[in-house]
Amino acid sequence: MVFENTHEAIIDFDIWERVQELRKNRRRPTRTGKTNMFSGLVYCADCGAKLYYCTTKYFESRQDHFVCSNSRKGECSTHFIRAVVLEQGMLTHMQYVISYIAQFEDKFRTIMGAKRKAEVKKELDAKRKVIAKSEKRIKELDRLFRLIYEDKANETLSETRFKILADDYEREQAELTEKVAALTAELEQQEEQSENLEHFIDKVHKYFDLQKLTPDVLNDMVKRVEVHAPDKSSGKRTQQIDIYYDLVGYLPLSLFQTETRNDAA
Ligand SMILES: [Zn+2]
Repeated sequence: MVFENTHEAIIDFDIWERVQELRKNRRRPTRTGKTNMFSGLVYCADCGAKLYYCTTKYFESRQDHFVCSNSRKGECSTHFIRAVVLEQGMLTHMQYVISYIAQFEDKFRTIMGAKRKAEVKKELDAKRKVIAKSEKRIKELDRLFRLIYEDKANETLSETRFKILADDYEREQAELTEKVAALTAELEQQEEQSENLEHFIDKVHKYFDLQKLTPDVLNDMVKRVEVHAPDKSSGKRTQQIDIYYDLVGYLPLSLFQTETRNDAA
């Protein structure tokens, strides 16, 4: 049996969780034995499958690249992306985020605060509503229990009938109490997310002069990368890459640019 949180953590829980995730995504080398630092981190934006790393011939040249693992079965387009393009895109994005934080740390907090608020507000409201409703029902059950108890005392309710009703009420009340406790814990956890933001900012401080992408930096900073299918509608091949950072999630650059435009206006 496992009892969680009964001992003082030997390593920081955040780090522990991160290591478990990395282990889950353990890199599998290709047939040629090569690995890439992005293996296990990159997903198809359309079907959600992992993109797998290939060093085999593609078109006329031998290129290190990633493709959607469902593309072989013909269930998805390839989402072909060269490893060096991915690396370059990631480095550029990371450098942008880092330099933004280096220059406008407080503004970054504001932006992230607004983003988070919008995301969790709905969820929190829904949870609070359920909690309020459940608490009301718990009180109602108390009242019903008192009523049937009086009836039993007045002998207008048989012992057997009383037992059945009392058991029902008690069970429902226990279930609701458990539900309220679970939801309250979830609410508290969501409120802790602002701590994650501070952890992220602390982490970024280590990389203010980042020049080169290394597996260590990538693993430390990035949780997930989603690659969209290439878009050739403009005549040029463009490809959207969504980057999910550790602790703070999806950070599109438009998030920062909107803010800058608002400032200028
Ligand atoms: Zn796919």
